[in-house]
Amino acid sequence: MPDKKLLVVLTGAGISAESGLKTFRDAGGLWENHNVLDVASIEGWKRNPELVHRFYDERRKQAFSAIPNEGHRTLARLEKYFDVRIITQNVDDLHEKAGSTNVLHLHGDLFSARSSKNPLLTKFIGDAPLPYGESSGDGGVWRPNIVWFGESVPNMTPAMELVEKAGIFVVVGTSLQVYPAAGLLDYVRPGVPVWLADPNAHEIRVERRVQVLAKPAGQALPEIEQQLLTLFTIAHE
Ligand code: NAD
Repeated sequence: MPDKKLLVVLTGAGISAESGLKTFRDAGGLWENHNVLDVASIEGWKRNPELVHRFYDERRKQAFSAIPNEGHRTLARLEKYFDVRIITQNVDDLHEKAGSTNVLHLHGDLFSARSSKNPLLTKFIGDAPLPYGESSGDGGVWRPNIVWFGESVPNMTPAMELVEKAGIFVVVGTSLQVYPAAGLLDYVRPGVPVWLADPNAHEIRVERRVQVLAKPAGQALPEIEQQLLTLFTIAHE
């Protein structure tokens, strides 16, 4: 049974674009000028670990100094009225910086490292670079704590369970091309209102009826906020 006050939001790289962090689809399938499979696959890491570590060192530095935008802030504000749960494909921490308290990262995060042998062995590294080759003490080495293409996504199970209970579902800033995350939309119960916010919404194929706002997150999310507050007749302070 969907919980009417449970607002589940699936976010992707696009929500952080207005904070200066580049998406990769917008650059023709490249992520900061790199072929995605060179920097976001286990094969790429084995081929050239130094390059991969340097790539994430750079992303970490950028994300560390990035500031949340109106899109992130709107989602944090909505916690006053709804039980907001964010499922993000992003590896930055801009939702947390904006004040969101329930954020599930599907693809890992930039600010910790994990053992190459055991994804559950992690350590916080903050904004520090992660040198290649340092022992993680279990026979492995520390590597970026990012879920790379082809690796399993342990947080998919809690994400699917959350989406099944959602009373409202919002998708923002994702091309819905990266699986299994893109499949989450299939778990939304019939009758649950769904919004999609993305300036390139016309390029995104969605099977079910959704309310589309073809605008950047910083504009679209405050509009969705207004619609939600009206729909649920909550007086906006
Ligand atoms: P994507 O790059 O495939 O798609 C980004 C989407 O954002 C596109 O549909 C684009 O139209 C949209 N977009 C662009 N500007 C926008 C804006 N201002 N507001 C709203 N939407 C906007 O991203 P994805 O679907 O998240 O998949 C990419 C993968 O790359 C993810 O797994 C993620 O881990 C990783 N990634 C993360 C970051 C980050 O953490 N900030 C940045 C780049 C890539």
